[in-house]
Amino acid sequence: MQESPEFAFARAHTAEHAFVGALQNLVGHTLSVVKVEHREMNNTAFIKTVPDMELGLIMQAQENVNQLIKTGRKIMSHTFSSLEEAKKHFPSLRANEERIVGPQQVTVIEIENHDLAACAKDHVTNLTECDFFLVTRVSNSGNITEIDFSVGLQAREVAKHTLQKLLNICNETGANINSVENTVKKIKNQNEKLLRDLKNYSRKSLDAIQPYSVEKNSITLYHGIFDDLMDSEIRAFADKKIANGKAVVIIANTHSAESNNNPESEPTATIVVAANESLKDIDCNRIVKEIVGRGGGKPHFATGLTKIDDTSNIVRSIVTLVKNKL
Ligand SMILES: [Zn+2]
Repeated sequence: MQESPEFAFARAHTAEHAFVGALQNLVGHTLSVVKVEHREMNNTAFIKTVPDMELGLIMQAQENVNQLIKTGRKIMSHTFSSLEEAKKHFPSLRANEERIVGPQQVTVIEIENHDLAACAKDHVTNLTECDFFLVTRVSNSGNITEIDFSVGLQAREVAKHTLQKLLNICNETGANINSVENTVKKIKNQNEKLLRDLKNYSRKSLDAIQPYSVEKNSITLYHGIFDDLMDSEIRAFADKKIANGKAVVIIANTHSAESNNNPESEPTATIVVAANESLKDIDCNRIVKEIVGRGGGKPHFATGLTKIDDTSNIVRSIVTLVKNKL
């Protein structure tokens, strides 16, 4: 079924009136709509944020709009000589007052027993023509709540694609539509616990490195190769060691292909080279660029990336180079 762009616009725009009206009924007062953008596939309403305008309430407003569409509401227009006149007749009138400056004719669009807004755009004649209304995104920026919505054929397309995505998620997680929210929460909790465990394991593994002491200038060298530790913990360990004294840290961390979220990708290793800032002969950035190849950083702290098979040779070369310089 084809529909003209003008009709698609009028139906999306009228549904926006109904939606803002439904939100107003739920929050208990008139809202301020800063602007509305209508596009081919979706629309965005920018509304001044008020307390209580949370997702649950927005979903309730969506439900109420679809009820009004189902039962049908007439759309009527009233013309007044000025905004002031219009407000005398309709005290709860919603109007973008910054756009209606000075004495000018004002059209008020009334959705039967539901909403009143000053508006000069095109509207459908009954809410039933809106067919179906869906909120597709809610986000807050500053004091504005942005609400994306789709109407009619747009909304049916969105519903079809979104349901397909939801079924894909169910398929991936082994959940069904009724249990998927709980399943995702459970996965999130498990993931947080595993990350905490990995953090602790990473710390313990790094703390177990046996330092190598260079007697003549009391410099301590920490080096090692690990599998699938948390890179952030390695950087924190290196930062701490080089800040505390004359230390050099050379640590490689291999990443199995699974941990890259891409089983097709080639397994890699990250290499951290760090040295206390007083050790001017050790230029970590230069070492990484010359020996590891990919990567770099600052003279006292650099990171590189290599193929997993080259890791031990590279670490050995860096350790030998650094020992010769100390
Ligand atoms: Zn309008």
